Amino acid sequence: MLPVVSIVGRPNVGKSTIFNRLIGSRKAIVDDQYGVTRDRHYGESFWNGREFNVIDTGGYLPGATDVVKKGIREQVHIAIRESDLILFVVDTEGGITSLDSSVAKLLREQETPVLLVANKADNEERELNATEFYTLGFDELYPISAISGRGTGDLLDRMVELLPEERDEPKTTIPKLAVVGRPNVGKSSYINAMLDDERCIVTDIPGTTRDSINSKLVYNDQEYILIDTAGLRKKAKVQENVEFYSTVRTDRALKECDVAILMLDAMRGFEAQDKRIITNAADYNKGIVIVLNKWDIVPEKDTNLLKEFEEYIYDRIPRMTYVPIVSISAIHRKRIHKVIDVADLVRKERKKTIKTSHFNSFIERILKEKPLPVRKEVPLKIKYGTQVKSSPPVFKFFMNHPEELPANYRRYIENKIREEYRFTGVPITMRFVQK
Ligand code: GDP
Ligand code: GDP
Repeated sequence: MLPVVSIVGRPNVGKSTIFNRLIGSRKAIVDDQYGVTRDRHYGESFWNGREFNVIDTGGYLPGATDVVKKGIREQVHIAIRESDLILFVVDTEGGITSLDSSVAKLLREQETPVLLVANKADNEERELNATEFYTLGFDELYPISAISGRGTGDLLDRMVELLPEERDEPKTTIPKLAVVGRPNVGKSSYINAMLDDERCIVTDIPGTTRDSINSKLVYNDQEYILIDTAGLRKKAKVQENVEFYSTVRTDRALKECDVAILMLDAMRGFEAQDKRIITNAADYNKGIVIVLNKWDIVPEKDTNLLKEFEEYIYDRIPRMTYVPIVSISAIHRKRIHKVIDVADLVRKERKKTIKTSHFNSFIERILKEKPLPVRKEVPLKIKYGTQVKSSPPVFKFFMNHPEELPANYRRYIENKIREEYRFTGVPITMRFVQK
């Protein structure tokens, strides 16, 4: 897991400018769901061969000072809990304000390392004036200009020195199942149901200080780590800021897990946010299971209803019909084990390897069933193919003119692979190379 750096400070000191400079051209995850704050961002940064995540906690829109103050306090609290390093940004143009002093107080009372960043030090004079910020009580002060880049190299050098090598995740081969989904779909209810279940043995995970929301579960003689992305939010008093961190946490859980369990509320359907989560999981090549929770309150359940639900969901993700769907009721503990059974099947599918000899007679057959087209007066030919790796599975095909292979033929091959070998719940990667 990548270490996390959070940027905190009062509005207008230049937090988002610093964020943009740190992540450069990399893609940020934007959280724009809430009205009270400006967008918040989360992205990856890279310096001296080290990668880390950066979180811009966002700026509060102008409002009554006490509202701003409360919002910032809360962001600082979460940042402390979630980060390996905090950049506390102040403004050499505006000088020290009472908001700066109250943030400083919070940051001094805790253990996470803090670098005080005096931004807008665009010239030497401002840089000299920045020494006034030592009165805030931090040892390390970095005057920078986020706009021009002045001083940012020194800051980054120090940042990567302070970051832990690896986040203290125990190295483990125990499969990790991440329970993800929108708020209120029932993730916590499900996890609690499993943790209370007499057929599951729950043990502590040694060495997990920060991520105590991960639980180790033994079920059917197999160990699993359940990653709970809702737990943190439950512990916080005010929801708003924490929602953003749950976006961050979801993304991290997706990157970390072997199988993502996307939970939906059967009464609320499949929305853009669900699509985003499942697409990310597929982009990261993770195993995927969809769980339709709250099946108990779905009216008029007949035998066809689950089929209809499946069609409704697959219509929204037409390229992902390989993802299995399980209906459950977390509250009534209906089919809660089936989720793990199916996740375990997916995990095994993800590890599966197909013998090259078998794969090649399969290719031969499907090429005969639907011959490759002619391109630029040359008939396209796939000479052979092989599964080059598993967990996640990658297939490599050797052919003439790979750049000419039509997208629909690619899909044809994928569909045939799934007909033949299934790979239930597992995104597969296909590479076509020149031979
Ligand atoms: P945030 O509210 O803390 O995220 O602050 P912003 O990043 O939105 O910046 C607030 C204002 O300060 C914007 O007008 C920026 O252009 C400006 N600003 C940011 N960094 C610098 C800097 O290094 N020098 C100067 N002169 N202005 C800056
Ligand atoms: P989370 O935000 O995804 O962790 O969702 P929670 O576990 O907090 O559940 C949100 C709400 O849905 C709570 O009021 C739960 O009691 C309710 N809920 C969870 N699972 C079920 C279920 O299977 N059936 C019904 N009817 N309600 C459920």
